[in-house]
Amino acid sequence: MTQNTVRVRFAPSPTGPLHMGGVRTALFNYLFAKNNNGVFILRVEDTDQKRYEEGAEQYIIDSLKWCGIEIEEGVNEGGNYGPYRQSERKEIYQKYIDILVKNGSAYYAFDTPSELETMRKNLKVQKRSNQQYNAETRSVMRNSLTLSSDEVNKLIESGHPYVIRFNMPENETIEVIDKIRGKVVFNTSILDDKVLFKSDGMPTYHLANIVDDHLMEITHVIRGEEWLPSLPLHVLLYKAFAWEDTMPEFSHLPLLLKPNGKGKLSKRDGDKMGFPVFPLEWINSDNEISQGYRENGYFPEAFVNLLALLGWNPGTEKEIYSMNELINDFSLEKVGKSGSKFDPDKAKWFNQQYLRQYSDNELAIQFDSLLKKKNINCDLEKTEKICSLVKERLVFIKDFWEQTSFFYVAPNEYDAKVVRKRWKANSPIFLKEIIQKLNNINEFISPNIENEIKKHILDNSYSMGQVLNVLRLVIVGASKGPHLFDILEVLGKNESIIRIENGIKNIKK
Ligand code: GLU
Repeated sequence: MTQNTVRVRFAPSPTGPLHMGGVRTALFNYLFAKNNNGVFILRVEDTDQKRYEEGAEQYIIDSLKWCGIEIEEGVNEGGNYGPYRQSERKEIYQKYIDILVKNGSAYYAFDTPSELETMRKNLKVQKRSNQQYNAETRSVMRNSLTLSSDEVNKLIESGHPYVIRFNMPENETIEVIDKIRGKVVFNTSILDDKVLFKSDGMPTYHLANIVDDHLMEITHVIRGEEWLPSLPLHVLLYKAFAWEDTMPEFSHLPLLLKPNGKGKLSKRDGDKMGFPVFPLEWINSDNEISQGYRENGYFPEAFVNLLALLGWNPGTEKEIYSMNELINDFSLEKVGKSGSKFDPDKAKWFNQQYLRQYSDNELAIQFDSLLKKKNINCDLEKTEKICSLVKERLVFIKDFWEQTSFFYVAPNEYDAKVVRKRWKANSPIFLKEIIQKLNNINEFISPNIENEIKKHILDNSYSMGQVLNVLRLVIVGASKGPHLFDILEVLGKNESIIRIENGIKNIKK
């Protein structure tokens, strides 16, 4: 592998289902990697045992697979830089934290929770805006900077709980170039001495993340904006290890916002407005179900397409992108800085566009299996024709039955509202006349039927609206459906006439 091969990682923590914002992060990493002939890696960051949730890792893997995001190195795929699950890399972190302690970049801290609480309270009383463990406060706490090495060794040997903190420099300016945001500047005076390692032998996110990015030769870190505040610490860690030369380039993606643009898109917004925020359905340990895009009937291609355009703006009118087109066109330079509003209607629009790309035959094959489940046998050609008539009205495959059931099953009841509004004393009379007209048609196709019926209406000076609405009512059972004469053609002469006769018999005001 050459030195400059692009290597990116998606590094989720398996603490629950993957939010669609997380899927977008994975997608942008994947697109960037593929656009640069690079490698996409899945690294599972499971060092926080308290927040670990059973099944979450598999959920993440399944979600990426559903989206067509292919993992090249990872927990299941393996690779030359493994293991790819942080809980299996404990010894590695131990070695690296020792380096930091030795070179003075990190130190042991023995303060108990109550001592930490007292420190915070005292600082509050002194009205300090900043109540952190930092350059100012560390000198009065119990740590390896204030205690003698004898005392430190004794505490460690006696099994006293400790953490290892980063020795944050005082008042230093850190400048980093973010590929999306440009130059970002931080001052260390507002940062605390973050915990890097705990006495249970586990690193915290910060240490494990930097060590792994270095060892896995990650060239670009692409992650959510919520990690931007951690960036100065990460840069300082690279310095502390003397790894600045191979430090990855950073890109922090903008947030996904609620439909009204006010704040981060949350599960609660989805629940309130009836859209999923997770790729796949998730059932938690309390048996609470969170909706998934897959189960809601979205095509994975549509989901990927809509996610890609949340934040990435190719600057053209084109909106429909296949994965390959995304890979070809993607660049981090075209990712915006500001949050992207999620629009649930637009999400449906994307699905509709993908549904329309299917041929009538492909759709008919899918619908046919749905019909079989309902014990309805219909020849594929007819279903294909029905597909051509209703295709434009469908958002999801699952809408098909709702839009077409009347083609397969004759109405056995009639929409009461329409009956009230449209059914008149003379309705049976002109319906009987229509039966006669239909009987006269030799080639029973939509334009012929339309001509014949409309001519009859005009010849008798009937109201077009009145007759056609009543005809639709007896054919469909309601005032919905595609062009009426197209429906009659699909049903055929016999079935159409039977339905009209049934309507005359059964509809009563
Ligand atoms: N484990 C972090 C997360 O859950 C990774 C953040 C990063 O990419 O550095 O998002």
